[in-house]
Amino acid sequence: MGMAEFGALRDQVRGEVVTPNDAAYDEARKVHNGMIDRRPRVIVRCAGVEDVVAAVNLARDSGADLAVRGGSHSVPGFGTADDAVVIDLSPMRAVEVDAEAMTARAQGGATWGDFNDATHAHGLATTGGIISTTGIGGLTLGGGIGHLSRGLGLSCDNLISAEVVTCDGKILPASERENEDLFWALRGGGGNFGVVTSFEYRVHPVREVYGGPMLYELRDAATVLKFYRDFIKDAPEEFGGFPAWQIAPPLPFIPEDRHGEPFLLFVACWAGPIEEGEAALKPFREVAPVVAEHVGPMPYPALNSAFDDLVPAGLQHYWKANFVKELTDEAIEAHLEHGPKLPSVNSTVHIYPINGACHRVAPDATAFAYRDATFATVIAGMWPDPAQNEDNIAWVRDFYEATAPHSEEGGYINFMAEDDQDRIRANYRDNYDRLVDVKRKYDPDNLFHLNQNIRP
Ligand SMILES: Cc1cc2nc3c(=O)[nH]c(=O)nc-3n(C[C@H](O)[C@H](O)[C@H](O)COP(=O)(O)OP(=O)(O)OC[C@H]3O[C@@H](n4cnc5c(N)ncnc54)[C@H](O)[C@@H]3O)c2cc1C
Repeated sequence: MGMAEFGALRDQVRGEVVTPNDAAYDEARKVHNGMIDRRPRVIVRCAGVEDVVAAVNLARDSGADLAVRGGSHSVPGFGTADDAVVIDLSPMRAVEVDAEAMTARAQGGATWGDFNDATHAHGLATTGGIISTTGIGGLTLGGGIGHLSRGLGLSCDNLISAEVVTCDGKILPASERENEDLFWALRGGGGNFGVVTSFEYRVHPVREVYGGPMLYELRDAATVLKFYRDFIKDAPEEFGGFPAWQIAPPLPFIPEDRHGEPFLLFVACWAGPIEEGEAALKPFREVAPVVAEHVGPMPYPALNSAFDDLVPAGLQHYWKANFVKELTDEAIEAHLEHGPKLPSVNSTVHIYPINGACHRVAPDATAFAYRDATFATVIAGMWPDPAQNEDNIAWVRDFYEATAPHSEEGGYINFMAEDDQDRIRANYRDNYDRLVDVKRKYDPDNLFHLNQNIRP
């Protein structure tokens, strides 16, 4: 691909075409994970669906690798590659809400912050991630776990339809009525099937939530984790809190002399009637003394962006993940051994509850197969200094090795590292063969292979 092709592409697309000779190149090639330092052949900052079609056609016809990105949060850095054509959807982030129909349609490059801003104005929300800068695209296509999943299901469970540019440059609708097989695969199957240029979601009345972080002493961690494990089994579905391991950041609600110490954190989220929030959280105030907390009523988007500053763009990332049915005493022992060894303030381990509404969807109704897991655990290593890579990666791997025997074979694809490709079949269980069939139909030559790849 040379100057002629780039010139032709610039004539075809409305968005920016960035090549290594452009001043914008170094900024445009960055993704969220600072460990990923790739030099694509061209980055197409798409302004609309026609730009996406042009970029897909260019990649296919030139034989270049094709990377697709929206929020750029992929931990393995699937949104870029050396010598690739990169489709950057981040200029496409408009969100339209139909408050009467209780739906919202968002362009493929929107973040959860963009989405929540638009829906919150109507007192509405759907399940998104816990950070506002994550893209709706990658998160929804992999499943989508967040503060609201116990009550509202996964993000993909709230997807009503999508517009998809496939490998042949066609623009296809996907829903329960049109291209149903593609729609089924998009709900958990990741970016394997095409570029989704718009997502239509069901939205629900959620204006304010009662929530925020609560810190417990390490000596109380076993008590809190065991209590949480039992409590969450049949807690009201409006209750979406999760425990985590966390070093106390220098925040005003935490006593200054405790900054930098490891704690067991509980991130509370009650999405039911706000006046019931205090009572809903009471058991967590009684189970053990709370060292510090910042809990109360707040707009849902405030909780959704409360932790953004802990994960700024450019940190080094290495993550591992597992689904968990029972948080056994042995699993808790493993957490107690490795959790307090957190190597950096940005690193964390979250134990998300995915029962409730997530369990009411049949395992074969969408590509997301683990409808009987109670928890999705992520061991998220994040740190600023590349010189600390070895120690941090070792912590993630040791934690993972210790908890894996007490977990399911599969894990959530969106929390996995690049070296987890051999777990794809386990992640999808009995849905894997059907995903291969859909892949063969919509992307037989595996143009969309920079992802947790389902090989045709
Ligand atoms: C700080 C942080 C917090 C996170 N929190 C959560 C969380 O709370 N819950 C959760 O479920 N996950 C969470 N994740 C994981 C997240 O779901 C994945 O990293 C996901 O891939 C991010 O989507 P993105 O669009 O931002 O990423 P990108 O890097 O832009 O995309 C990742 C991949 O998804 C595919 N993709 C993205 N958009 C499209 C599209 N429009 N069409 C087709 N393919 C597309 C492509 O294969 C792409 O390579 C978090 C990740 C990070 C780094």
